[in-house]
Amino acid sequence: MLDGNEATTKTVPMPWNRLGLDDRFTFRCGRELDCFTHCCRDVTIVLTPYDILRLKHSLHLSSQEFLDRYTLSPRFAGQKFPLVILKMDEQTKQCPFVSAEGCAVYRDRPWSCRMYPLGTAEPKNPTPEEQAFHFVVLEELCHGHREENCWSVRDWISSQGVEEFEMMGASFKYLTLHDYWDQSPELTPAQAEMFYMACYDLDRFRRFIFETRFLELLEVDEARIEAIRAHDEDLLEFAVEWLRFSLFRERTMKVRRNAVVEAEA
Ligand code: SF4
Ligand code: SF4
Repeated sequence: MLDGNEATTKTVPMPWNRLGLDDRFTFRCGRELDCFTHCCRDVTIVLTPYDILRLKHSLHLSSQEFLDRYTLSPRFAGQKFPLVILKMDEQTKQCPFVSAEGCAVYRDRPWSCRMYPLGTAEPKNPTPEEQAFHFVVLEELCHGHREENCWSVRDWISSQGVEEFEMMGASFKYLTLHDYWDQSPELTPAQAEMFYMACYDLDRFRRFIFETRFLELLEVDEARIEAIRAHDEDLLEFAVEWLRFSLFRERTMKVRRNAVVEAEA
């Protein structure tokens, strides 16, 4: 459910196709449409760490409260790392944030709600022949496709504030597309729990850093310590570096010299 209110002049046929940033599609969303909020029902919305960060701030909840109240973390066969999805209401199947006025968390709605009705397909290792592309998700329930407003993909993405989510999601994307997952078995329960905490349960991850020996064992400069103490955005970047260090053995962090000596003694 998105506000699409900028009309332009040129239109393109609507069949499913690959769209580049300058290709165009027709769409309009608004509360006067008879499908208003129908798209916010019985839908699987996978939340990124940055989606969770924005939603918990919007709702003035801790990460743990938000996760407990509004999400599920299902496990599928062959799933490599924990995922978090938005929990629909058990009876109505509606998203918990649907209100009479529309989306109650509109300013902080998740990435996938912003993108709709566009989808994205992205090869893991893009080549000149095989690049990321967008496509229009055509669903019977959505009548916005019958409207005549015409958008370029680029303008749609910009109008919905997607860039910030993509920028903040880049390091998590790196984590999830890493070659490690191709070679490794599933995470151990302890690793899965660390992944879940670091990516999704940021307030608990902050306590893990500041209330254990973490900072005695790893070198983190003072400015960074203050940044991750004060800002969830910095903490999230740090969390991804920690997972790259602890899971992938990348040199994103440095063990303190005296911690190595202690371990060897
Ligand atoms: S978060 Fe908002 S836009 Fe997304 S499904 Fe829920 S009500 Fe709809
Ligand atoms: S179903 Fe489509 S047009 Fe209707 S509210 Fe949702 S996104 Fe907008």
